[in-house]
Amino acid sequence: MKQRYERPLIKKLSAGPLNKFGARTEAQPVPDIDGAPVKDLLRAFGSPLFVLSEKQLRRNYQQAVRAFRTRYPRVQLAWSYKTNYLNAVCRVFHQEGAWAEVVSGFEYEKALLNGVPGPQIIFNGPGKSRAELQRACALDSVIHLDHFDELYELLDLAAGLPRRPRVAVRVNLDAGVYPQWDRFGFNLENGQAWNAIGRIVGSGRLELVGLHCHLGTYLLTTKPYGVAAQKLADLAWSCRTQLNTPIQYLDLGGGFPSTNTLKGAYLPGTDTAPGIDEFAEVIADTLQRAGFRPDELPLLILEAGRLLVDDAGYLLGTVLATKRLADGRRATILDFGVNVLFTSFWYDHKISPAGDFSQHTEDTVLYGPLCMNIDVLRDSVNLPLLNRGDQVVVHKVGAYNMTQWMQFITLRPAVVLLDEQGRPHRIRQAETLDYLQQLEEVPAHLGPHPPASSPQARGSQPSATATPG
Ligand SMILES: *Cc1c(COP(=O)(O)O)cnc(C)c1O
Repeated sequence: MKQRYERPLIKKLSAGPLNKFGARTEAQPVPDIDGAPVKDLLRAFGSPLFVLSEKQLRRNYQQAVRAFRTRYPRVQLAWSYKTNYLNAVCRVFHQEGAWAEVVSGFEYEKALLNGVPGPQIIFNGPGKSRAELQRACALDSVIHLDHFDELYELLDLAAGLPRRPRVAVRVNLDAGVYPQWDRFGFNLENGQAWNAIGRIVGSGRLELVGLHCHLGTYLLTTKPYGVAAQKLADLAWSCRTQLNTPIQYLDLGGGFPSTNTLKGAYLPGTDTAPGIDEFAEVIADTLQRAGFRPDELPLLILEAGRLLVDDAGYLLGTVLATKRLADGRRATILDFGVNVLFTSFWYDHKISPAGDFSQHTEDTVLYGPLCMNIDVLRDSVNLPLLNRGDQVVVHKVGAYNMTQWMQFITLRPAVVLLDEQGRPHRIRQAETLDYLQQLEEVPAHLGPHPPASSPQARGSQPSATATPG
């Protein structure tokens, strides 16, 4: 390979952020994902490109189920749709046996379209409309109540129904996680949760089947899950003894961390995040000792999101340009920005060059292509000198990016799933100008509606029109 000439530069030595392992470099090339070459994927599907590994999705799911089932007899996972609701991803998890956990009417319909039976859909969230509640009742899904207004609405609705709707109470509680997520569900310590339970049972119109608690997200200690499991078990016990209402399941929510590194963290996430076995141990141990008779042990439901999908997702992209900043630092501009990599506000995502490179590395700022000062993907990352056209791989981007991505300035890229043999399948097309124009309307007094775009204008990405084989 012919080496590119790089003008020599005298720079002040600064060690950059050090930790006990010394300066970090991410200069390990990643030429392929599950055996599929990065350059082939980008050629076939355009750059940038999200890639998901089916092998890793299944591995994560099976590992989580194993962690809990080896410690507790009755376990069910429910896939958190908002973490990544691309249909192909949901179907991988449903094939593995997951129920669906949804937080809106839109997600609810998506779960049905993915073939999930009504009784296997858990309907969470603070914003369910009357029509959505009605539909969930008709299809016998379980409704996780979030507030009293929803409870009154449902009681009203239930009066006219042939069958009692199945409900659970979402409880928020003090488990030592601050700030406490007390905006969701009914608070335990101030008595609201017990009050809600009393009204549900007393009404005779609803069937109370479960208790739910989702503590937060990316929790780095296991202890809060022990506290939450104990408090939910105590509450279930009170339901049984004081209201003669046995609770069929306890849902401990999600919140288990992936191994991403939080921004500014001293140690990498791979060293600080407890494994799922440690969380399972605390939860199962607490429930086993809670005093339930073996035949009365409630079903344990978990709604793990990022844990199952984060490290199965990659974002591939291309270097657009490099420059020197005023202070002499090197800057690299990539063809994807924070609009499609929302989690770069949270994490120091690991970014690797896809190809060979020179030995010399340097601290670099990574920018996206948006005309916005906040479009910073990494403030400082030790990378080899990348040049225009070089390709990069961003790691662990599977959670939340493909649902929170914004169509801002640029169009959203295609998503590919690599099957277990490493063969690529496009699971979402790159957005086109035409697709977006379809939603717009121009009032007559502002002139004719713009015509359909010319073929060149359809995709903003150079190779977005290439049809993969
Ligand atoms: C978002 C969410 C989850 C998933 O959270 P993770 O932190 O990704 O595991 C689970 N349950 C509820 C109710 C949620 O809102």
